[in-house]
Amino acid sequence: MARRRASQFLAGYCCSQSHSLVRRPPLCSQEPASISAPGLPHTHGKATSMFKPPSKLYRKLNSQTSCDIMQVHYSRTYGIHQRSFTSAAINIQRSPSFSKLNSDDIGYFKSMLGDKNVVQDEDRLSAANVDWMRKYKGSSQLLLLPRNTEEVSKILHHCNSRHLAIVPQGGNTGLVGGSVPVYDEVIISLASMDQIISLDKVNGILICEAGCILENLNSFLANEGFIMPLDLGAKGSCQIGGNVSTNAGGLHFIRYGSLHGNILGLEVVLADGTVLDMLGTLRKDNTGYDLKHLFIGSEGSLGIVTKVSILTPPKLLSTNLALLACKDFLSCQKLLLEAKRELGEAISAFEFMDSDAMDMVLAHMDGARNPFPSSSYNFYVLIETTGSDESYDKAKLEAFLLRSMEGGLISDGAIAQDINQASSFWQIREGMSEATVKAGAVYKYDLSLPVEKLYDIVEEMRPRLGEKAKVVGYGHLGDGNLHLNIITKQYDNNILAQIEPFVYEWTSTHRGSISAEHGLGLMKADKIHYSKSPETVQLMASIKKLLDPSGILNPYKVLPQSMLQ
Ligand SMILES: Cc1cc2nc3c(=O)[nH]c(=O)nc-3n(C[C@H](O)[C@H](O)[C@H](O)COP(=O)(O)OP(=O)(O)OC[C@H]3O[C@@H](n4cnc5c(N)ncnc54)[C@H](O)[C@@H]3O)c2cc1C
Repeated sequence: MARRRASQFLAGYCCSQSHSLVRRPPLCSQEPASISAPGLPHTHGKATSMFKPPSKLYRKLNSQTSCDIMQVHYSRTYGIHQRSFTSAAINIQRSPSFSKLNSDDIGYFKSMLGDKNVVQDEDRLSAANVDWMRKYKGSSQLLLLPRNTEEVSKILHHCNSRHLAIVPQGGNTGLVGGSVPVYDEVIISLASMDQIISLDKVNGILICEAGCILENLNSFLANEGFIMPLDLGAKGSCQIGGNVSTNAGGLHFIRYGSLHGNILGLEVVLADGTVLDMLGTLRKDNTGYDLKHLFIGSEGSLGIVTKVSILTPPKLLSTNLALLACKDFLSCQKLLLEAKRELGEAISAFEFMDSDAMDMVLAHMDGARNPFPSSSYNFYVLIETTGSDESYDKAKLEAFLLRSMEGGLISDGAIAQDINQASSFWQIREGMSEATVKAGAVYKYDLSLPVEKLYDIVEEMRPRLGEKAKVVGYGHLGDGNLHLNIITKQYDNNILAQIEPFVYEWTSTHRGSISAEHGLGLMKADKIHYSKSPETVQLMASIKKLLDPSGILNPYKVLPQSMLQ
């Protein structure tokens, strides 16, 4: 095919609709604009059925609660491989210092919360006892649904005085076994605390309760001309309190940064029921220690987040999204560097996936379509830019892609022409986690690494595991965050022994972090020393003991048990 100028094929789309960028049903079947690398044929098929409605798996269904949603998830048969990572499997004994629930406790909770918010029903309990991957499973006999901060405070005061262990639960989408009990901890769900309290439209500051679902907040804000500063594939189920407690990163981290920068204030209930009012709304406030940061990313081990004050950026009207194919990882890496230089502040997402990850999504996610049907490439990159001047933003991206294609960094590419095509591209990236869970038993590693080293671990892991496992790599390349996923037929301790501690040692040697954004939870509580010095871990343990002397808050998680006895 004759070489054509990339700009002939490019088209942006204006994101002025009130709907969020992803998960919007298609209105038309227009093909994405394509770009063709010099000497390479166009690879986009002619089929107009390329764009199918995105998966609704995470969308909140009508007025269902989070608990109902979890039941919907688990009632579908995916052949998911379940393994109980509790008790013997993780070599942790139930702490003898914790009491067992008795009828007086239940009576107290019912008198305070009302019968319907004290859940003992087996079906609802079994949904809340198991995590999203169906890998971690507890045996709690009680799920509590407080409706306000005062009720959370009374619950914790009672549990603390009775030495009853608890686990705070948000949307239960966590990927490290932090959101479910290990033994019989009481589950405290924030699902009923889902009120938006205020939006300061002058300063873009939202105050809401911790149980608000991320996607609902984004929909509310979109109508007011703002967006949430974070976006993740689990947006339809995860709660802002869970996001804060895991310090979630996600797809827009490259643009809007960490929650440590965006959270302006928190209300937190401590283990003894004390309510800490830190619900500030100021950008600058240097009065003493900024304690809210202790709770951001502490995974429910220091307190329960009940209210959140968060900075929300203005919603910009022009969004462009390109799905690009690259021949090798070095090209992806160079593309990132060039994109940062040339597109600068306009980049709002820079994601990558290898061809095995792409194949996995295509095989397991309904409606996922590869826009490059006739060729396969080794790597794929998603670049999203967002700005306020449609023609300028589009021209800037076009010029960048043209130069990158001529320079050989991009082998092929497609530009979304409307919001439906953008949804289709995002569906590939956002479907990745679910596809790996459907594909078999998955070992998930969420590593922070220098970008130039980021893919080496994938290449080292493949020959190490041979035919026994499928090793895929994808993630937030713009933030140096690799999701290394290893999929096997079933969970197997021999395979695990070939992966760990190798993966942690490798990461530590390269001065990376063993948890970029998912947290430590139960999975990595005793692995923290791979990323933090002994003195630092010791100080963390002292803080935990100070704030939660009886250790009732999310026990067995985040820190090694041995340091808390
Ligand atoms: C498909 C998919 C995609 C994902 N993509 C990303 C991604 O891009 N980036 C990312 O960072 N994560 C991602 N995750 C992981 C997960 O969605 C995040 O960790 C999310 O922030 C968890 O929120 P949640 O409400 O579901 O919390 P849960 O899973 O319920 O809980 C997570 C932890 O926080 C604690 N917790 C929850 N609520 C509170 C509260 N109010 N107060 C105190 N502690 C609390 C729990 O005890 C637990 O330790 C993804 C998960 C899935 C399934």
